[in-house]
Amino acid sequence: MTIDWQQEMVKQKDELLARAKELLAIESVLDESTAKEGAPFGKKVAQALQYMLDLGEAAGMKTKNVEGYAGHLEIGEGDELIGVLVHLDVVPAGEGWSSPPFEPEVRDGKLYGRGALDDKGPAMAAFFAMKLVKERNLPLSKKVRLILGTDEESQWRDMDYYFEREAMPDMGFTPDADFPIIVAEKGLLDVTLAGEGAMEDPADGEWILAEFEAGQRANMVPELARVRLEGDGDVFELKEKYQDFLLQRRIRGYAEEADDHLMLVMQGQAHHGSEPEKGSNAAYHLALFLKELSLDASGERYVSMLNRHLVDSFDGANLGIAQSDDQVGALTVNGGVFRYRRGGEQLVKLNIRYPLSGDHKQILQTVEKQLQPFGLKVADIDHKAGHAVDESHPLVTTLQKVYEEHTGEKAELRRIGGATYARALKTGVAFGPLFPGRKDTAHQKDEHLAVDDLVLAAAMYAQAIYELAK
Ligand SMILES: [Zn+2]
Repeated sequence: MTIDWQQEMVKQKDELLARAKELLAIESVLDESTAKEGAPFGKKVAQALQYMLDLGEAAGMKTKNVEGYAGHLEIGEGDELIGVLVHLDVVPAGEGWSSPPFEPEVRDGKLYGRGALDDKGPAMAAFFAMKLVKERNLPLSKKVRLILGTDEESQWRDMDYYFEREAMPDMGFTPDADFPIIVAEKGLLDVTLAGEGAMEDPADGEWILAEFEAGQRANMVPELARVRLEGDGDVFELKEKYQDFLLQRRIRGYAEEADDHLMLVMQGQAHHGSEPEKGSNAAYHLALFLKELSLDASGERYVSMLNRHLVDSFDGANLGIAQSDDQVGALTVNGGVFRYRRGGEQLVKLNIRYPLSGDHKQILQTVEKQLQPFGLKVADIDHKAGHAVDESHPLVTTLQKVYEEHTGEKAELRRIGGATYARALKTGVAFGPLFPGRKDTAHQKDEHLAVDDLVLAAAMYAQAIYELAK
């Protein structure tokens, strides 16, 4: 049987867009204040889940709501299970939109709205794909489930809960990243190291490091860093030194003088923690400047920890954890959050992405051993093991064939440092929805997805579902 999947999906375009807009209009941002039984992530997230379950019901699919944590729509028969994993929660809208983020609209052939790309637009494309396969009454030898997650943007509590109660698909894909196909992802290790800063008296001529802070999240390169210095030193000289430092390195920053202290602010450039060398880490710049000053002993310890083990050592060499494999490449370290208070809390948060051959316990031990002399100990970790699917797996070869037939382009297999929803599946890959060369507006203002891309993705998902489950 030959089906022109694209032509069939183009016929559904208006309905696909109409339903996508209805789904996008639901402000499904995590809201614990309206959480209750059956709606653990808030009223609006539950409403988005119910909206999809109702659509599935109306299309004659089997549906299941797993206590509001997640749900699924099901077609087909058989012992084996194919999964398509999407999520219905979105990040908050933020500022600066050209049109209201929860009043979706099409402009210049693009669908705008929070979630248009990540991930409610693709979720609707996947639903129409399943619906098309069902309506054509194609014979399937496996079950197919569209799994509806609702906590992807926060803590993945949806998937933990769901897979404790429901079957793990034998294989599947998630339309929550990029085309062509992402088959491998690095291991992820967020480490928080904490300790107490001492309250030692400064020696003559020393500046007191009263406070140092930079960054909000482990997985972002800090854009701003500030330090509060106290003491009787020559403020004028220090300010001049700072200006010289900024000029030499062509970075931005300023000094702010008050009665009893001097505040130095450093401006870097934010970037995703998976490519720390592509950002400009404000904390690292500031640590380099502070190295030139004589500081109180406790402050000195904190700053030299930064300079010795972290500054500009994006591959972990100065922590003794540099390593790489030929699957996903080299380990990376991002110093994402720094806090120091004289006589109080001191803290460092690192985002480490390591190769599939790596051992996270060993990495952790080495990091702790290196930072212990500076009074820091591991206080918290968040670990996600690496994820890979063999490139000869039928899941991969089938999706490659579908992609190449529809686009005429080679379906290159990608291996990344980021984490996609695919790792919630045992044997899963990311498959779209963003085509190569398109602007990635996920989590940004004016988030959008080209309507033609949405329709093409839906056609590919339909064929993929059929080919995997036939
Ligand atoms: Zn997403």
